Amino acid sequence: MNRQQYRAAILVLSFLLMSVTFVYISPLVMMTGLLNGVIAAALIFWIAAFILTFILGRVFCGYLCPMGAEQELIDRAIKIDHRVVPHLRYLKYLLAVLWVGGAIFLAAGSGGLVLNPLFSLGNGLPPWQAGAYIFLYGMSLGVFVLVLILGRRGMCRYLCPMSVVFITITKIKDRLKIPSLHLEAQPDTCIRCKKCTASCPMSLPVQEMVGAQTMQNPECIVCGSCAEACQKQVIRLAWLWKT
Ligand code: SF4
Ligand code: SF4
Repeated sequence: MNRQQYRAAILVLSFLLMSVTFVYISPLVMMTGLLNGVIAAALIFWIAAFILTFILGRVFCGYLCPMGAEQELIDRAIKIDHRVVPHLRYLKYLLAVLWVGGAIFLAAGSGGLVLNPLFSLGNGLPPWQAGAYIFLYGMSLGVFVLVLILGRRGMCRYLCPMSVVFITITKIKDRLKIPSLHLEAQPDTCIRCKKCTASCPMSLPVQEMVGAQTMQNPECIVCGSCAEACQKQVIRLAWLWKT
């Protein structure tokens, strides 16, 4: 199996396990915890995911996020177009300000946070209530509609407030050239076939990035699809930066 087949298998697993994992990573549970003065498992998860981004880039988005998985599986099943809606990406920045600002506001107003990873989990297992399933699968349906309207990974590109934190960290680690997962390219052997661009689940202009020798796009989820689509081996994933 190649990297994309492994990635597809992980995405399927992530989507299928969503009803089990969601409560451990739900931003909503994280916020409810803060509202009650509690550091829930979801907050610990997000802090860990953000810290790991300094080394792994946006691996969470590319390989693990159940919502990202759903969007890519829809794309693979019914071939969703690349679609770029000018300026709509600012919406996720607005949502991120509200989300992160809200989290800081709740934490500051809590008068001291208590660590309780089992918050809202009862005996440590996800709450198997009908309401939770209706919410979860209602949200999945919403994601499906969004992808149809906004194109490939439309939710990641225009609406996910968590992606803004990942983008910010990616910009910092790329600027500081911290050894981490990122793309490198050898533009001299590029034949401009644009297979890399066609394969990108984030609708990035990969061939133009190669030509301009600017492979560091903070929207890149380091999935490696472009590297595997390129028959000339122009693009590769690397840890160390070219000097
Ligand atoms: S797939 Fe490879 S050869 Fe084709 S345009 Fe992209 S980088 Fe160039
Ligand atoms: S640029 Fe390449 S590695 Fe980055 S998201 Fe697009 S296909 Fe994946």
